[in-house]
Amino acid sequence: MKDTSILIVEDNPDNLALTRMLLQFEGYPVRTAEDAEQALHILEADCPDLILLDIQLPGMDGLELARRVRQNSALRNVVIVALTAYAMQGDEENALAAGCDGYITKPIDTRAFPGMIRRYLESNTTKLG
Ligand code: MN
Repeated sequence: MKDTSILIVEDNPDNLALTRMLLQFEGYPVRTAEDAEQALHILEADCPDLILLDIQLPGMDGLELARRVRQNSALRNVVIVALTAYAMQGDEENALAAGCDGYITKPIDTRAFPGMIRRYLESNTTKLG
C-alpha cells in the first residue's frame, strides 16, 4: 500500500488533524481539503486512491461532491469513504446512494480506523482484478 494516496475532505479542524495524523502514521501520502470546492480543485490535478469525505461541509456538501466524482470518468476508480455523524440518521444510506463505497462513523474509533481504511483500499484492488 505504499504510495497509496488519500485525500481528506473535512471542515472540522480537529477531525482533519486526527485523520491526517492517523493516515500519515500508516505511511499514506495525504492531502487535505476543507471544503468541496478545494477538493474538486485538487482532483482536477491528480486522482488519489481514496477520498475520506465528510458529508457535512459548508457550501457544497459531501454527497454532491461524491456525485460529481462519480460522474467524472477520470476519477472512476477512486474509493470514496464517507465520514458520517452518528446522530445523523439517513446519512449512511444517502452516502451510498450518492456513490460512496462505504462510510465510517464519527467520532472516529482511532484504533479501528487504519484497518477500516486498509480494507476499503484492498476491496478496491480486488474489484480491479
Ligand atoms: Mn463537517
